[in-house]
Order: sequence, then C-alpha cells, then structure tokens
Amino acid sequence: MSGGQIPAYVDARKAFVQETELQGAVDLERLPRFAATLASDEADVAVSLRFAKADNGQRTISGHLRVATEVSCQRCLEPMPVAWEDDIALVLLEDESLATRLEPEWDPWVWTEPKLMLAELVEEQLLLSMPVVSYHTDQECADKLGYVPAADTGSEAPKAQKESPFAVLKALKKNDSND
Ligand SMILES: [Zn+2]
Repeated sequence: MSGGQIPAYVDARKAFVQETELQGAVDLERLPRFAATLASDEADVAVSLRFAKADNGQRTISGHLRVATEVSCQRCLEPMPVAWEDDIALVLLEDESLATRLEPEWDPWVWTEPKLMLAELVEEQLLLSMPVVSYHTDQECADKLGYVPAADTGSEAPKAQKESPFAVLKALKKNDSND
C-alpha cells in the first residue's frame, strides 16, 4: 500500500458534508490498545474511510481495513502470523442509547468531540474484527516447542520424540512454575 499515514483527525463539522475520503497506513505506535494484544511490535495496518451523510441524516463512516501482524498462538504461546480484513460501516452517534435505532448493517461509533480521532476509530475496529483465537497447525506448534517427529530423529535428537506436543507443553509449563 502506497501513501502515508492517515491524519490524526478530521473535523466532524466538515467531513460528512464534504464527503471526505482518505486512505493510508496507521502505525502501531498510534494504536496502543491494539498493540498490547499482539505478539509483535510490528503490524501493517491499512485503512480507507469515507465520510458521508445519508438521506435520513445519519452521519456514516464506511471503509475497509487490512492488517498483517503476529499474535500469540493460544496453544504453544509462540508468535504466529495473522492477516485479516474487514469492512467498516459506522454511524456516528453522540449517545449510545441511539444505537438501537440503527439498521443492522451499521455499527455505532459513539463520539462527542468535534475532532474525530481516526486512530481511535481504527483501533476500535481492529479490536472488534481480530480473530478471537489463533492456533498454529499441530505440526507448527510441535516445531515451535522443539518436538522432533520420530521420522526425523537422529542420534542427537531430544528424548521427547514419543511425547505429544501437548505433553511437551505440559512439561514446559511445569518447569515454568518451578522457577
Ligand atoms: Zn502454536
């Protein structure tokens, strides 16, 4: 994706009337809550956003996000690459109680400041769209834990070859708690 960072904010009084459109990257430093969920200090985040006013007066923000980064595998806890994308379909609301009136295809974004802080908007969408759980394949988890399948076992191989990756993981956990 070419182009620079999306701006820090757009002016709510202008963006919807002028139908502002923008696209660009968002550095991880601008997304601290999202960054805290990752197993990497790098992430490629690219977004496009379009501000518009619907016929019914609703102020809409539609667009798309794309991200590639690493999260912790929930089985072996080692980093694993993940990538996903998602559509953005938000209606700007000043009061959460108005959310019940939205059409199902729209999600509320409750925001009352005149400056719409874009990194916060993107961060919320990233957190909502990211995979709930991520696992390596069985073999990848085994590899990460240093488990050597029997077929590859040379004379210097570790002794764990008969154990399942789960047994190895259990053993590792036991060792950790003994420290
Ligand atoms: Zn794993």
